[in-house]
Amino acid sequence: MTVRGEQMKLILLGAPGAGKGTQAQKLVKRFKIPQISTGDLLRAAVASGTDLGRHANEYMTAGKLVPDGIVIGLIQERLKEDDCKNGFILDGFPRTIAQAEKLKDITDIDAVVNVDVDTSILVERLTGRRTCKNCNAVFHTVFNPPKEEGVCDACGGELYQRADDNEETVRNRIDTYNKNTAPLIYYYKDSGKLRNVDGRGGIDGIFQNILKVVKTVS
Ligand code: AMP
Repeated sequence: MTVRGEQMKLILLGAPGAGKGTQAQKLVKRFKIPQISTGDLLRAAVASGTDLGRHANEYMTAGKLVPDGIVIGLIQERLKEDDCKNGFILDGFPRTIAQAEKLKDITDIDAVVNVDVDTSILVERLTGRRTCKNCNAVFHTVFNPPKEEGVCDACGGELYQRADDNEETVRNRIDTYNKNTAPLIYYYKDSGKLRNVDGRGGIDGIFQNILKVVKTVS
C-alpha cells in the first residue's frame, strides 16, 4: 500500500471549478497533510508584489497558464518544506505534460484523483465562487454559502471574488484546461495511478467517493 497509514502523496486533477480546492481542504483535515495549490502560491506572489507575481499575474488574468519554469520553481521549493515529509495534496499542479515529467524527477506520487465534471456546469460554479482572503477556504453563493454573507466560516476572514472568476476569464481557463491539462488524464492512466471520481453532486458525497478510491491505491 503506497498510502502509508495516514501518509500519502496525491495529485488532484480536474477542470477549474471541478471542486479540487474544496476537496483538498477536506483531505487536509482527514489526513493532516498540506494542500499545495500552485494557484494559491501564485496569488500570494501577486499580492506581495514581487517581480514573479507581476509576471505571473499577466497570464492569470488572461486565463492562461503561467510558464512551466515559474510554477516548477515554486513547487520545487514548497515540497522541500518540513510539513511535506508525510505527504501532500497537489491541487492545480501539474497542469501540463512538461510539469508532470518534471514532477517525476522531484518525487514519487501515490495516486492521481481525477475529479470528473461536465464542463457545462463549470461557469456557474466558478462565477459564484467566493474565496477567503485569509485562509483560502472556498464557498459558493448558491451551492455552498457561508453562514454569514461575506464572512469565512472557518476563520472569520473576508470573502472575495477572485479576479479570474469572471465569465470571460473562466471560459479561457476552461479552454486552457481542455488543451493543456486534460491530456494528463491519459498520461496518468498509462502509469496506472489514475483514479476517476464523479465530481457531480454534493461536496460530502464527492469526498466519500475520493476516500474510497484513495483506499484502493496499492
Ligand atoms: P487555480 O487557483 O488552480 O485555479 O489557478 C489560478 C491560475 O493560476 C491559473 O488559471 C493559471 O493562470 C495559474 N496556475 C495555477 N497553477 C498553475 C500551473 N500548475 N501551471 C501554470 N499555471 C498555473
